[in-house]
Amino acid sequence: MKTITLIQGDGIGPEIINSAVKIIDAAKVNIDWDLQTAGAGVIEKEGSPLPARVLESVRKNGVALKSPVTTPIGKGFRSVNVTLRKELDLYANLRPCCNIPSVKTRFDNVDIVVVRENTEDLYAGVEKMIDNNTAHSIKIITRKASERIAKFAFEYAVKNNRKQVSAVTKANICKLSDGLFLESARKIAAEYPQVQFKEILVDNCCMQLVQNPSQFDVLLLPNLYGDIVSDLTAGLIGGLGVAQGANIGENCAVFEPVHGSAPDIAGQDKANPTAIILSAVEMLNYIGEKEKGQMIKNALFETFKQGIFTVDLGGGVSCSEFTDKIIKNLQE
Ligand code: ATP
Repeated sequence: MKTITLIQGDGIGPEIINSAVKIIDAAKVNIDWDLQTAGAGVIEKEGSPLPARVLESVRKNGVALKSPVTTPIGKGFRSVNVTLRKELDLYANLRPCCNIPSVKTRFDNVDIVVVRENTEDLYAGVEKMIDNNTAHSIKIITRKASERIAKFAFEYAVKNNRKQVSAVTKANICKLSDGLFLESARKIAAEYPQVQFKEILVDNCCMQLVQNPSQFDVLLLPNLYGDIVSDLTAGLIGGLGVAQGANIGENCAVFEPVHGSAPDIAGQDKANPTAIILSAVEMLNYIGEKEKGQMIKNALFETFKQGIFTVDLGGGVSCSEFTDKIIKNLQE
């Protein structure tokens, strides 16, 4: 039996993670869940939204399924997500974005994988007030991290039969920082002649994505552009409710949806659990439970095929009703 850390966050976190666990248990996957609560609910008792025990558990188990965790604004805490990614050196953020059968969207030919550098850029958190009216935020780009993420993107492309990798930067303006990211991508691209390499500026990339997304395959981006562009690509396939993600490092992997804790709908049983279910399917693939992962994916897609949708996708079922329908399809 494999032990997997289950990071239960806040907002819609508990609702969607319960859904995923119920479905995985119904599929009879042999997992021993190591439940670790994080976020707003544990601050008072433990003094931090990300207590050390959570990191220790992921280090020990090597794999985690995580629901969103809110970082309280203005209370002196570093972002939980950024800290987790940095502490565990989860340097690659992988966000596959592919049309979901029966979910109606503007385009029916989206099949993009966003590979986002996860440890530096403006997320390094190096900010200071120069005087009362001037704030500086330092954008950190290193050759080591840029080459490492470029290598990840090309290796992913080769292993998953992808034909093209596009480096997305603003190297015409941020000549040194984005320039270094691009130079690193070019260097690694030369080692993979079988994969087409393209370069595109991030503003043009956004425009092209909303006009003709099928021209893109794997997108390789520094941290901040990766965050923004992956929300855009989520919008192309039905929104944040269906966008899956994974944070991968040398020793650990944390699977989590692209979306945040959605406080506006928390506690109402309204959230769409699809994004975390698809993230969990990737987690099952990662631990070698491909067959069970495929079974769950089929049951989820069958549910959509039956016209059953949560509110964000124009339907009327609750998160728990949607979960029960998937389990029913799983057992049929
Ligand atoms: P963060 O900065 O933490 O990523 P965010 O500001 O991007 O968070 P989210 O919490 O992701 O915000 O939510 C953005 C919008 O998408 C909200 O209106 C929210 O209700 C909606 N949303 C996010 N996730 C889901 C979901 N699983 N199901 C339904 N709606 C969702």
